[in-house]
Amino acid sequence: SSVLTLTKVVKTYGDTVALNSVDLRLPNDSYVSLLGPSGSGKTTLLRVIAGFELPESGSIHFLGKDVGTAPPHERDIGFVFQNFALFPHMTVRDNIGFGLVNRLNNPVTDTNVAQRKVREIIALVGLTGLEDRAVTQISGGQKQRVALARTLITEPKMVLLDEPLGALDANLRSRMRTELKAIRERCGVTFLHVTGSETEALAMGDIVLVLDDKRIVQQGDADMIYNQP
Ligand code: ADP
Ligand code: ADP
Repeated sequence: SSVLTLTKVVKTYGDTVALNSVDLRLPNDSYVSLLGPSGSGKTTLLRVIAGFELPESGSIHFLGKDVGTAPPHERDIGFVFQNFALFPHMTVRDNIGFGLVNRLNNPVTDTNVAQRKVREIIALVGLTGLEDRAVTQISGGQKQRVALARTLITEPKMVLLDEPLGALDANLRSRMRTELKAIRERCGVTFLHVTGSETEALAMGDIVLVLDDKRIVQQGDADMIYNQP
């Protein structure tokens, strides 16, 4: 079944068309790469899905519900930023717990439950033992895991990642590819990963979407993308 469906979504900024009638359908529980050159509309597409921007026309259904006009916090969609956006004065644990404490209408009020959830998420992303480190004292790969954990702790039904490996050096980037795939498999939600790198998109995506000139021009698994003219 599909987690997200976009139908004929159009987004413009003044005279600039940023998304030109985008149709897409994302299955549950999968790793999806969104590949496209600079200026093709990747970031705009993520922002429209997240609810940071409203499209001019078209519809967006998330888990069967029309979210066209729903505010971002009603979407259950997590967002991981390229620069990680961590709080530098806080520890790993507090950065991760912040997502939970700060969440609107969160039913988790019991501190013990909250602490257990933080521990579980720390184990899930592979940060056990580093809980008390300041985030200024950990590596780039570890910061990436903190950013992901902070999103996952709110239990999103889908996670959007905007060039998540862009801030890492080449060595670490290839290790984190494998790590991100493994983390996604453990939590079972759909990841939509934006990248300008064909190698990265094809290596990581169960499904690859190709965006060109503000519309989706190809959609399929890596084999299919390779074999299409
Ligand atoms: P990508 O992420 O693939 O580089 P974007 O989604 O950032 O592409 O941009 C798609 C198009 O929309 C580009 O032509 C870009 O210049 C334009 N655009 C994006 N954001 C804005 C904005 N805030 N104001 C005006 N034009 C924008
Ligand atoms: P990872 O692959 O998990 O990012 P690295 O191989 O980059 O790990 O780093 C190994 C160890 O070196 C880490 O456990 C981390 O504590 C330490 N380290 C790496 N980079 C930094 C840094 N910029 N500041 C402080 N410690 C660092």
